[in-house]
Amino acid sequence: MKISIPHNHNTLVFDTEQAILMGLPVENSNRECFNLPPTHISPVIVGRWTGSVALGSNCNVDNLFISPHGNGTHTECCGHISLQHHTLKDSMTQYMLLAYLVQIQLPEDTTNYALKVSDLNWTDDALKLNISAIIISTNDYVDKRNAQYSNTQPPYLSLELIEFLNSKGIKHLLLDLPSIDAENDQEMIGHHTFFKENDNWLTEKTITEMNYIADKNISGLCLLQMQVLNIDSDASPSNPIIYLPI
Ligand SMILES: [Zn+2]
Repeated sequence: MKISIPHNHNTLVFDTEQAILMGLPVENSNRECFNLPPTHISPVIVGRWTGSVALGSNCNVDNLFISPHGNGTHTECCGHISLQHHTLKDSMTQYMLLAYLVQIQLPEDTTNYALKVSDLNWTDDALKLNISAIIISTNDYVDKRNAQYSNTQPPYLSLELIEFLNSKGIKHLLLDLPSIDAENDQEMIGHHTFFKENDNWLTEKTITEMNYIADKNISGLCLLQMQVLNIDSDASPSNPIIYLPI
């Protein structure tokens, strides 16, 4: 199916059969960060009954243990850092939006590297596009599909960059790093800068962390479909999807 979207005196056309998935699979794996437990999927056990056909039952029924911030692609709202109970199910108001995808080449030594505005390589033309979502993809300095990030001080976003994105009206920030904050930043200053303005929580904003784009040669304007659970929590495992204009 083709979708046409008028934008800035142009018409953008997207093909829904050419979806590019950015969510890492929810699966048993050792992928983790912040010393949080990995995802664990296993058959339900109720008394003598086990939810596994392979173990003689009539159907497969799994329990899923997921710690969204710690083991895969997830989308979070300001409830991640607020005292008040803000949840993703109340934050999400838009599920299809135009986004801008940028590819960033990290320096050789990525340890505790703070991405700067100058890393963004975001052209003046892009700034005029009036979009509310940005997707930051970095080179595969580690195997992001299986990385164990804890205690490695992975790259994060500088305050300068977050303030720049705020000034450009970015409401949805997606990146393939474990967090926008440094691993050892207990105050989570980046999250506070993005989610708060004059002591007010910006409930409509979201951050998606640990998403993944295998193709490093694509960039620019795209159609973004946010896929999250309708969940009463600050964050949800997510599978954002993009479509490039054809
Ligand atoms: Zn998170």
